[in-house]
This record gives sequence, structure tokens and C-alpha cells, in this order.
Amino acid sequence: MKTVPDYFGELVFDDRVMKATLSARTYASLRHTIDEGEPLDPNVADAVALAMKDWAVSKGATHFTHWFQPLTGITAEKHDSFISPSPDGGVIMEFSGKELIKGEPDASSFPSGGLRATFEARGYTAWDPTSYAFIKGKTLCIPTAFCSYGGHALDKKTPLLRSMEALNRQALRVLKLFGNKTVKRVVSSVGPEQEYFLISKEMYDARPDLRFCGRTLFGAKPPKGQEMDDHYFGAIKPRVAEFMEELNVELWKLGIMAKTEHNEVAPAQHELAPIYTTTNIATDHNQLTMEMMQKIASRHGLVCLLHEKPFAGVNGSGKHNNWSISTNEGQNLLSPGETPYENAQFLLFLCAVIQAVDDYQDLLRISVATAGNDHRLGANEAPPAVISMFLGDELNAVLEAIESDTPYKGTKKTQLKLGVDVLPKFNRDTTDRNRTSPFAFTGNKFEFRMLGSSNSIACANIMLNSAVAQSLKLFADELEGSDAFETDLHNLIRRTIKEHRRIIFNGNGYDNAWIKEATEVRGLLNFRTTADCMPHLLDKKNVDMLTSHRVFTPDELRSRRDIMLENYCKTVTIEANTMVDMARTLIAPAVSDFAAHVARGAQAKLALDPALPCRYETSLAAKLSALSDRIDSGVSNLERALIALHDVPDVVAESEAIRDDILPLMCELRVACDEAESITAKSFWPFPTYSDILFSVR
Ligand code: ADP
Ligand code: MG
Repeated sequence: MKTVPDYFGELVFDDRVMKATLSARTYASLRHTIDEGEPLDPNVADAVALAMKDWAVSKGATHFTHWFQPLTGITAEKHDSFISPSPDGGVIMEFSGKELIKGEPDASSFPSGGLRATFEARGYTAWDPTSYAFIKGKTLCIPTAFCSYGGHALDKKTPLLRSMEALNRQALRVLKLFGNKTVKRVVSSVGPEQEYFLISKEMYDARPDLRFCGRTLFGAKPPKGQEMDDHYFGAIKPRVAEFMEELNVELWKLGIMAKTEHNEVAPAQHELAPIYTTTNIATDHNQLTMEMMQKIASRHGLVCLLHEKPFAGVNGSGKHNNWSISTNEGQNLLSPGETPYENAQFLLFLCAVIQAVDDYQDLLRISVATAGNDHRLGANEAPPAVISMFLGDELNAVLEAIESDTPYKGTKKTQLKLGVDVLPKFNRDTTDRNRTSPFAFTGNKFEFRMLGSSNSIACANIMLNSAVAQSLKLFADELEGSDAFETDLHNLIRRTIKEHRRIIFNGNGYDNAWIKEATEVRGLLNFRTTADCMPHLLDKKNVDMLTSHRVFTPDELRSRRDIMLENYCKTVTIEANTMVDMARTLIAPAVSDFAAHVARGAQAKLALDPALPCRYETSLAAKLSALSDRIDSGVSNLERALIALHDVPDVVAESEAIRDDILPLMCELRVACDEAESITAKSFWPFPTYSDILFSVR
């Protein structure tokens, strides 16, 4: 029997395959590009393409595609076959360096927010040699970036790579200040924990809202939800276990280190976490993981829901972005070191993150903003929409001691002097207790918990890398000229803690009192919806920062704001239309049928004995009838508001109308329908209920 090490990565053109199939010179040249970010030598491309094609064909591949991450949707691909006519009338399998490096997908229908006028030539995809090619089905997939001919990024990968480059540049400057002469590269790494729901396909097919929107738009609370906490880490049901087993095998073949899996808090909710890796690869892997989850679920008669809030009143799904930065020499820069000097360096990097999160709260909120995630942030299981940082008691005490020049208990009651004292090792058991914080330090990494389950992790990491690069840049600017490094370093750290202390909060992030304190006393931002935060992408301070590090151009930022808002508007509009349709053609008729049924029951009773009171029937029929009327007017109001959207001048105004008019009307309609569900006989209800769906998989 094949064991995991036998097949791990068998569908990946990884380092082992490269070494085995490329000449020593080609391999060395490619490795140089991968490890040090040097441009690829064009002569190398042909040799790599040939080896890649032979390898892929030997694994049964017939096609290749440039695989990329457009601004909406999971991933995009356009398959071309390797075949090429041969003079004898047959075919040969061919693949050139040119085809490897550059592709021209017919991409006119990918969102570009006005960057690629339709008359303009098509956009192109460019190979990202730092992420390995892999085989999916019969297709060799080549991870690529996607740009317009004007050089504008039309995808999520390009700015992510640029942000990693910015972080690398600035972190190297800072490391030099600490006398590190050997470090060549600094990269950020991510381990994303992915939550999802698994429900039976039968239930899914019976609900138009799930099919069109990925979430339920109606549904009364089930008698049993997650109150008992009996699902979290509970025994995994056999059908789910089979799904997870197959998912693991498929992910392992793709070189994805799926590591842990368990049930989550809500019924039918689960989580999968991989072992962390370099951010751009982690991003590719997470996209692939989401795709495989959906594909494999369907092989088991299941549907994997990646929506952030598939069921109201039940925990939603998020994605925890565990993020750290480390050197090519293996030093984790967010880990307190063994020597006083390393500790000072750690504290400076820590301060860089603290300042970044405080200065760019808005960008972090924007990076996770979608219509789906708006339902989750601020509900009582996810972090609030207000961003704050949790550092844990120990680290907090260290920072307090530095800020106030007072003795720190961990260092023999002496004053903590940077560069002299050794910090304690921060135990993750004591730091990981706070699950309510949006941004928590967990010993040697930060866990950004606001991401929605369907979000690409690219967006959050672009902002995180860039914002931290910016703090590091300011620090390096200040310290590079210093002739009293230790004193200036100490003062810089102390000042940063003082100036940004407001972002640190170690209490319960779900508490309403915190939201009040955060916004009214500390002046932190609280953007409830996508419509509220997205316009701030174009605030001057944000544009200045992101363009100065060459992560985005001003045009790219404008187009992204438009695309994200358009996406928000489209998502909610589809939901509203689906509600109108379901309420009108399924719910209202069912309620009315049931009312008629009840009335007929009363009539039949009265026919037996006109003196029978029929109180049950009369009052129920009256309630049902009142609810039908409410549903009917709810549908009309929503429909009218949807029509009014046509007159809104631009996408910003449209997103505001969605937030102020459409969403409240959807809420109203839902309340009436859910009330009707709770008093309508089960046999009359036109689709599966929450209980049916949530407990459907055994
Ligand atoms: P949990 O948060 O559920 O208790 P862990 O902390 O063990 O679980 O791991 C969560 C994720 O964090 C995993 O994907 C893991 O690989 C990742 N992780 C661990 N160390 C680091 C690190 N230094 N940098 C980035 N991610 C990390
Ligand atoms: Mg976690």
C-alpha cells in the first residue's frame, strides 16, 4: 500500500522533480529566481517548459492552463492542449518556454473596474515561478499573475507579490541595523485555518437561496442549535470522515500540507488547517483547498458551503490568517530570541506590527469586506468590525514596563533595558486564550481572525505586508543615521508603544462596552459594512502608502474600490431578487394554502356541530392571513426598492442604497416569513428547514 510520503506532492512540479528532470545549470538558474526573486533567464524557460511538459504528460495530462486569481471568484483557467500537428499527419505534445512564461486568456469578461477598456488588447498572464506548477485532472496548471497590457494588475497575486517584496526591502534595512550581514531575504508566512459547512446535496438542491446565494435567506431558528456545544471537537460522523479522508489525500497529492481537521462550534461546521508556508504559496494552496473541498463534497453527495453566514443564528465561517515574518536563515522575526539583542530586534518588529495595525485599521477592515462577511463581523461569534490587538498578559507587561520606565517583574525587579535584559519566552498557552480578538499575538505569530471563509487570503496579506513594510520603513529612516543606536532604538520603541497603545486591547472583544470604549474613548474605527469602509481605500494616506511601496498604482486602487463595491451590490441584489422570488412563489402560496386548509378544517367541524368554538382554527387562520399580507407587502416594498436602484448614479451611491434601503427591507421580509414558518404545518412548508439541513449529514 502507498503511504503518504509516497504520494505527497506527486502532482506537483516541485523541487524534487525539478532536480531530477532539469540540467544542473537550468536548475540552478531557476532556483536562483525562486529563492532570491531574480528575474528569470529567458533561455531557461524553454528547458523548464520541456521538462514540465514531459513530466505532466507522463502523469496523464493532455492540457495546460495558466491558473490565476481574478478579482472576483475563486480562480480562473483556460485550457489549451499540448497537441501540435506533426508533418506525418499525427500530433506531438508540445509546450514552449513562451507558452510557459506568458499567456493571453480571453479575459474581457473578468472584472477590471475600467482598467481594460473593451477595445483594448486582451490582458496577459505571467508565470510566477515561485509557486510550483501542479496537475489537476488532466491539466497542468501554471500559477500566474494576470495583468493588463498597460501593466496594471487585474488579479490578487500581483499585488501580493509586490507587498512581499516591499516587506522584504524594508525588513532587510532594519535587520542591517542590528548588524545582520548575512540575511538575504525576508518573507511572510501564513497558515490559514479554513472553516466550512457540509450539508447534504438533497437539502441544498431543494433551496433556491442556497443554490443562488450560497446562504439561506429564510429559516426559523431550529429547536436545537449550537447551545449544547456538543459539536465542537465532537466525534466526526462517518460520511464526513470519508469526505475528509479523500480531501486529505487529494490535497497531499497537490503538496498541500493539510494537517488538522475537526468539527467546529455549529452543527455541520468543520475546519481544516494546513501547515504554514510562504504567503503566496499559502494563498494558492488555500484557493485550491476551497476548490477541492467543493469538488470532493459533491462526490460524497454533499455540498460544501464556504459562505460566511449560511445560517442566521448559527455561527458563521471564518478563516484565521496566522501570519509571521522570517528570514531565509530561518529566524522568525516575531519570536522573542535567546539573547538581549535578539529581544530588542523582536520588540522593534512587534512595534512595527502594532503601529501598522493602528495606522491602517481601515485597510485591514477593507481587506476582509464582503457582503457575506458583513453578516459575521459583529455577530456574537466573530471578531467585531472594530480592529484591536491582543498581546497577552506577559507581553503587555513588558510593553508597559518599557513605556513607563518601571521595573518588569520578569527581570528580577530591575528596569528592563533593551539590549541588556532577556525577555521571557511567551508561552502560547497563556497568549492564545483570547478568541475574541480580531488580531491576536499567539507566541510567535499573529492571528488575524476577521477574514471570511470565502475570502482569498491575498487581500488581507497584501494590506498586512504593506502596512508593516511602512512602519519598518519609518523605523529604518529614523535609525539609519543614528550614532547612539541603542538609546535611539529604546526611545523609538517607547514612543511607538505610547502612541499606539489605543489599539491594544486584552479584554472581551464581543462585549458591547468595548465597542463603546473603542469608538468613543479610543477613537478606533468601526465600519459596520462594506459600503462604509470601501470608499476609504482611496483616502490619501492609504493611497500614499500603497503607491509609495509600489504595491498598487492609483488607478489600480480606484478600479479595485469599484470592483469590490460592484461585487457587494451585485451579491445583495441577487439575494434580494431571490428573496422576492421565493417569498412570492413558494412561501406566500404555502402559507395561504395552509390557512385555507385550517379554514376548511373549521368549516368541517362546524358542519358537524355549529356550536363548536374552533378557537384554534380561527385564531391560526387569522394569524396566517395577517402574515400573508405582511409577506405580500414586504415583497412589494423590496421590489420597489430594487427598481429604485436603477436610478442611482454611481456605485458608491448604489452601495449606500443597498445598505440603507435594501438590507433593512430584506430583514423585514425575512422576519415575516420566519414567523410564518414557525406556525405553518411542516407538511406545507415548501423547502427544508434549518433542522432538516443542519442535522442532515450522518
Ligand atoms: P490553533 O490556532 O487552532 O490553536 P495552531 O496555532 O497550532 O492552531 O496553528 C494554526 C495555524 O497557524 C496552522 O496553520 C499553523 O501551521 C500556523 N502557524 C504555526 N506557526 C506559524 C508561524 N510561525 N507563522 C505562520 N503560521 C504559523
Ligand atoms: Mg487559530
